[in-house]
Amino acid sequence: MILPILTIGHPLLREPAQDVTRGELLDAETQQLIDDLVETMRHANGAGLAATQVGVNKRICVIEVNANPRYPYKPDIPLTILVNPKLHPVGEETFANFEGCLSVPGLRGVVERHAVMRVEYWDRFGNRIDTLIRGLKAATYQHEVDHLDGILFVDRVKDPRTFSSWESFDTHHKAAFAERVEAFVARHGS
Ligand code: ZN
Repeated sequence: MILPILTIGHPLLREPAQDVTRGELLDAETQQLIDDLVETMRHANGAGLAATQVGVNKRICVIEVNANPRYPYKPDIPLTILVNPKLHPVGEETFANFEGCLSVPGLRGVVERHAVMRVEYWDRFGNRIDTLIRGLKAATYQHEVDHLDGILFVDRVKDPRTFSSWESFDTHHKAAFAERVEAFVARHGS
């Protein structure tokens, strides 16, 4: 089922989400929520969607990039379900990422993200996964996990002058950003 996505200003977007127990995760209701998050993300052409964005207070988010028309420069990410994710920066490198968000319609802005992160999470069946993520993929994970902490990308934009409509991004920033991204992605492999 496609769920309505809350937009900036909705108080539930600011509520930190609660950890999910294994029992809760395996409930039919939570499994259905995960399917609905995936369907909603795909329908909206999002690169990710957090339960917080549909008003559900659980630490679950879904990520997938498959030749995404909203983010043509993003390398593909296979469908990933993150349950109770924890992120830890690895190293010092950061990257100025031009982000957008389904909960902040029409706006993009530059956010500094860690280039390499360790992520610990459960998959949708409660299997524990501990892995390193790099490059733009790491930025996508940071954006989604921020949602679970009640944080929107606009909170992390240091220079408000980087805010841009999607139209202005396409006309004035996309080419330069895509070029910078290409070198970054080549270095990190994702
Ligand atoms: Zn978002």
